Amino acid sequence: MVQPIEHADVVVVGLGTMGSATLLELARRGVRALGIDRFAPPHDRGSAHGGSRVIRLAYFEHSDYVPLLRRAYEGFERLERDAGVVLKTECGVVMGGVAGNPASVGMLRSAREHDLDVEHFDGAELMQRWPQFAVPRDWEIVREARGGFVRPEATVRAALAEAERLGATIVRNMPITRWESDGRRVRVFGGAGSSTRRWEAGALVLSSGAWMPGLSAGVSVGGSGVVASNPFALRPTRETLVWLDDEGDRGWHASEMPVWFFDRGSAPPVYGIPAFDGMGSPQGLKVGLHGRGPDAAPESIGDAVDPAIVDETRAATSERIPVAVSRATSHACHCMYTMSPDGHFVVGLHPEFANVAVACGFSGHGFKFAPVIGEALADLAVDGRTELPIGFLAPRG
Ligand SMILES: Cc1cc2nc3c(=O)[nH]c(=O)nc-3n(C[C@H](O)[C@H](O)[C@H](O)COP(=O)(O)OP(=O)(O)OC[C@H]3O[C@@H](n4cnc5c(N)ncnc54)[C@H](O)[C@@H]3O)c2cc1C
Repeated sequence: MVQPIEHADVVVVGLGTMGSATLLELARRGVRALGIDRFAPPHDRGSAHGGSRVIRLAYFEHSDYVPLLRRAYEGFERLERDAGVVLKTECGVVMGGVAGNPASVGMLRSAREHDLDVEHFDGAELMQRWPQFAVPRDWEIVREARGGFVRPEATVRAALAEAERLGATIVRNMPITRWESDGRRVRVFGGAGSSTRRWEAGALVLSSGAWMPGLSAGVSVGGSGVVASNPFALRPTRETLVWLDDEGDRGWHASEMPVWFFDRGSAPPVYGIPAFDGMGSPQGLKVGLHGRGPDAAPESIGDAVDPAIVDETRAATSERIPVAVSRATSHACHCMYTMSPDGHFVVGLHPEFANVAVACGFSGHGFKFAPVIGEALADLAVDGRTELPIGFLAPRG
């Protein structure tokens, strides 16, 4: 039996990082919002798991992100207050490499243009202040005290709980298979066979992470017909996270170690997030190689972790934190990046549909923006425009 059509003002497809923030923002505005996810977020099948995500303001990737980051910091703090949870820890971040490395240069540029507090010193000073590290004495390092990390699962959980408390509806374990728009109304279809469900709304937000290549194509009713698959040329990659046993070493704890990120020239940068109180399981120092890949579909996330990638990650870590060589690997798992062609996010109205907003291609650095992207998507879904400075991220179909 075909189910009757269900109605909402706005439907959000994908309730991970960006979708949960959007649903909350819509609910705060009193919009009749419906969120749908293929699983039951927070979960460990997409991009929002692993206990911690780096957060920082002096953005080396581009200084246009800085105003959005300032707003995002406020958004995390508001959610902490509203939900009564701790989401953010400002333990500082150090980034660096050989003199003139892109991370240091970009951070300094952002700090200069946006009047942010950073410290600029050499590798010798890094080792004097944090003896855990071993780097060449002439390396160029930039430290930002307001850097640190946020807790991804707790953030998604808190955003969804708050959204529901404010009246949003959530449908879990429901994969959306297709959607269509006539520019005024959207229809969204989920499930299969006799359990197929349909929703109709004035606007649609697509925030389905690594599944976006298949879902960002829609059907234009009365328009150009079916839009090509993967219009934003997204490329999901499967990244590996590794936890090293801290053996109770306070030198690996957020009270004594900053978040760190070291450029390695043509090799993927290595980064680490320290252990912290209440981090749950897995515990220890979390390390990874940013953008190591390979390209992969999100359905492969549960595949066995490649021991060669774990070894590569351990070796890159031990080069900069020598004691790591003797510490056991306590856990390793996969997590999805969704790369855009230029590494910048794709956020805005769908080029073919005025009532469809998209947020995708977060290219391994999007979590720290979740609250502000949620605000921008809510603006777009409700008003068709936003005052937030996201123009540089506009989708180019
Ligand atoms: C290893 C790793 C380390 C990272 N480190 C950092 C960091 O330090 N700092 C930082 O800022 N960012 C970091 N990121 C990036 C950040 O986590 C991502 O950019 C962000 O989580 C992407 O959010 P999203 O909403 O696009 O995807 P997700 O959070 O994965 O949400 C997508 C949701 O859509 C749902 N969905 C998919 N298809 C459908 C469908 N057909 N129907 C219904 N629901 C669907 C999924 O189930 C999922 O819940 C990291 C990512 C990884 C993998």
